[in-house]
Amino acid sequence: MRGIQITDFGSPLRLAELEIEKLPAGYARIKVQSNGICATDVKMVDGVGFRPKLPFTPGHEPAGIVEEINSDSESHRNLEGKAVVIHPHVACGMCENCISGNENICLRMLASYGINTNGGMQEYLNVPLRNLVALPDDVSMDMGALAGGVVAVPLRGLKQLGTLLSKKILILGTGGLAFSAVQIAKSMGAEVIVVGRKQEKLEVASRIGADFVINSNTTDYVAEIKKITGGFGVHHSVDLAGDSNEVPKLIQTVRRGGKVLIIGYSANTFQTAYNKLALDSISLMGTRSYTRNDLSESVGLISRNKCKPIISRIFPLEEANEAMSMVRTGQSVGRVTIHPNE
Ligand SMILES: [Zn+2]
Ligand SMILES: [Zn+2]
Repeated sequence: MRGIQITDFGSPLRLAELEIEKLPAGYARIKVQSNGICATDVKMVDGVGFRPKLPFTPGHEPAGIVEEINSDSESHRNLEGKAVVIHPHVACGMCENCISGNENICLRMLASYGINTNGGMQEYLNVPLRNLVALPDDVSMDMGALAGGVVAVPLRGLKQLGTLLSKKILILGTGGLAFSAVQIAKSMGAEVIVVGRKQEKLEVASRIGADFVINSNTTDYVAEIKKITGGFGVHHSVDLAGDSNEVPKLIQTVRRGGKVLIIGYSANTFQTAYNKLALDSISLMGTRSYTRNDLSESVGLISRNKCKPIISRIFPLEEANEAMSMVRTGQSVGRVTIHPNE
């Protein structure tokens, strides 16, 4: 089969002829139809992100058709031919985080497809049966891939803020995850303010439901937030920009008892007013990845039209480097996916 490989960090990806591996018991072989590409992939290819052992096949946002199942159970084998999205993380299932429903922060994560185990940028991928989430007929392969790629992460984060009904939420950022966060927060009943730097992307945010947008290039957004919230600030702020300079400002945007949720990130540090966190009872919290349940709920949100990820362009496997360049420049409004079997 054909697959993409990183052979040297910082060098172009290579299209290679790869072995189809034997299918272990309890696993499914997936014919990958769509795999979303995000900044995590670009950072890895460029050598500034996760550093798996090379050669390595990236792709942590795959969806496809179940080609074959190795199981004694007929109900498992009935999945053959069905459309699925793959949850990329294989959690241990036994640690205290797994058994309390937080497998996204498993204490003994066994494998992560496309992060430390060969992923979806190849024609076929073997994964454990429990990592499959079924796709209904009205959710396409691209939308399935993006359920994991852009919906499940903000869904996981927003659920941790508690009930959002009638709450004022600031979303910092105008990428794919931010757009999903806007739509999910709106469907949870929140009033949503989006802060970003690119006017054309802020206009997209308005079109998909943001109640207010603020261009931080031209407006002091901390002051503006105070103004439109009667001086109190928003209930919660969500960081999807991954710019450490913005975190101290986000802490200034929340009212007493508010939460600042970190989803975007970098390796940089920030300094902030230490006393404000205590005196205003502000929680600074982070969130990572998503559970199988979050992925299943994300598929449901897409199916019910509550969340509509935007796809900018689809590339064949041969044009993986062009696909990476498009994500690297950050110019596209929506997501980029690869179709390994076209
Ligand atoms: Zn991703
Ligand atoms: Zn675990």
